[in-house]
Amino acid sequence: MTKLVDHWIDGTRTGAVAGPGGGADIFNPATGEVEGQVVLATVEEVDAAVAAAARAFPGWRDTSLTRRTQVLFRFRELLDRHRDDVAALISAEHGKVHSDALGEVARGLEVVEFACGIPHLLKGGFSENVSTRVDSYSIRQPLGVVAGIAPFNFPAMVPMWMFPIAIACGNTFVLKPSERDPSASLLIAELWQRARLPDGVFNVVQGDKVAVDRLLAHPEVKAVSFVGSTPIARYVYETGTAHGKRVQALGGAKNHMLVLPDADLDLVADSAVSAGFGSAGERCMAISVVLAVDPVGDELVEKIVSRVRDLVIGPGDDPRSEMGPLVTAAHRDKVASYLDIGVQEGAKIVVDGREAPVTGGRGNGFWMGPTVLDHVPPGSRVHREEIFGPVLSIVRVRSYEEGLGLINSGEYGNGTAIFTNDGGAARRFQNEVEVGMIGINVPIPVPMAFYSFGGWKDSLFGDTHVHGTEGVHFYTRGKVVTSRWLDPSHGGINLGFPTNA
Ligand code: NAD
Repeated sequence: MTKLVDHWIDGTRTGAVAGPGGGADIFNPATGEVEGQVVLATVEEVDAAVAAAARAFPGWRDTSLTRRTQVLFRFRELLDRHRDDVAALISAEHGKVHSDALGEVARGLEVVEFACGIPHLLKGGFSENVSTRVDSYSIRQPLGVVAGIAPFNFPAMVPMWMFPIAIACGNTFVLKPSERDPSASLLIAELWQRARLPDGVFNVVQGDKVAVDRLLAHPEVKAVSFVGSTPIARYVYETGTAHGKRVQALGGAKNHMLVLPDADLDLVADSAVSAGFGSAGERCMAISVVLAVDPVGDELVEKIVSRVRDLVIGPGDDPRSEMGPLVTAAHRDKVASYLDIGVQEGAKIVVDGREAPVTGGRGNGFWMGPTVLDHVPPGSRVHREEIFGPVLSIVRVRSYEEGLGLINSGEYGNGTAIFTNDGGAARRFQNEVEVGMIGINVPIPVPMAFYSFGGWKDSLFGDTHVHGTEGVHFYTRGKVVTSRWLDPSHGGINLGFPTNA
C-alpha cells in the first residue's frame, strides 16, 4: 500500500495522515489489491475547506472577467497537456480502459472551454428610459461558496460539469469526490494552482456521508450540485433545500433503445454493444434495455451476440482491453446477482458474463464480462431497476406504442434512443417520450457543453440541468437595477406606486 489521498484546502494538501474521521481503502479493480487509503473528512475538516472558500470569495468575485478568463484558459491548456496523467489515475482506481478515461477528460475539457466564454455568458440586459430619464438593467452575480458532490463513475468529467462554470461565474468551490476514485481531484487542484487560481477558490474534501451531511447543513454553502444514485440524490435535494440551499441533484437511470423494424440493424447492434458495455455499463447514459419491435428481435440478438463474443476484457492500462473490471467486489456481486433474478423472472441468458475470459488472467479483480439477457419480461426487476453494470436486456415488443409506453412508465428519465430511418417516427418519439436527453440513431446522446445535461423524473431533483446556460443560471442570481441620475426635472414627491406613465 503506497498512496494516501488527502484533502486540498486553501492551496495545500492537508498532509498524509488519516484524521480522526479515519480512512477508506482504495482498490485497483483489475487486481483486487488495496493500493492506498483515502482520508475521510471530519466535520471540522469540511468546515476548514468551507472557511477557506469563504475567505477567497470576496477577492475572486471582484476579479475582473478578463483575469478570470485568463486563469481558465491557462487551466484549459494545463489540463489538455496532462490529460493522459488524469486518465491514468482514473483508470487505476475506477477500472475503465485508458481510452475511455481519456474520453471523459475530453468531455470535461469541453465544459472548461465553454466556461472560457464567461464574459459573454454573464452579459445582462439594459433598457434606456423605462421611465423618463430612468434606466433599468439586469446583472447576474455569484452565490458565494458552492459545493459539488460526485459519483465514482466519472471522477473527472462530472466534477468538470460543475466547477469550471461555478468558478468562472465568480463563486468559490468545495469538491467532494467519490471515495472510490479520489486521486484525479488532487491533480486537478494542482493544475488550478499552476493556472494561478488564487488559493481557496477551489478546494477538495475527501469523504463520505459525514462530509456530505456537513456540506448540506453548513450555513456558508449557498448551493450544492450532486450527481449519484437516485436515493442519495433525493436525500441531498431534500436535505439541502431544507437548509435553504439551491440544489441540483442528478440521480440514476435506466436507458432504453427503441428499435423500429426499418432501422439499420448493423448500426443498431454496434450502437447497443458500444453503449451497453462501454465503461462496463457503469455510465448513467449507458443503454441497458433494447426494445426490439417485432419482427427484428431474433436477427438483432444474433448480431449483438456475435459482437459481444469478440469483446476483449482486461485491465484498463492494457491497450488491448476494450472493457475493464467493475469498481468494487460488492458492486460486481450485486450486478451478477441480477442474472439469477432475471432467470427467475423468465429471462433467457444468451451471453453469461460471470465466467468471461479475461486477457492476462482473472486474478482477484472485480471482473464481470458482458451479459445479454433475452426475452426479459416487461416490468420485471431486471427491466426496471438500475443494474449499472455490463448487462444488456432485450425486451421484445409488438409496436412503437408498446415500446414508448414501457419507457414512459419507468421511474427514470435520463436518456433514451430511437433507431429508425423514418423521420416522422423519430420526430413523434422526440415529442412523446418523457426523458431529458434523446438520441435519434445516436446511442449515448450526451449533450455538448453549450447545451445542458440532465434527466427527468427520478433522474433529476431540482429544476436546473448542469452546464450550458442552465449551469450559468444555477451558479448566479439575478438582480435588476433601476437608476435615475438626478437632473433639475426629477419631479418631486409622488406617493403613488411607481409606474412609467
Ligand atoms: P452514490 O449515490 O453511491 O454516491 C454519490 C456520492 O454520494 C458520493 O460522493 C458518495 O460519497 C456520496 N454518498 C453515498 N452515500 C451517501 C449517503 N448515504 N449520504 C450522503 N452521501 C452519500 O453513487 P455512485 O455509486 O458513486 O455512482 C453511481 C450512480 O450515479 C448511478 O446511480 C448512476 O446512474 C449515477 N450517475 C448519474 C449521473 C447523471 O447524470 N444522472 C451521472 C453519473 C452517475
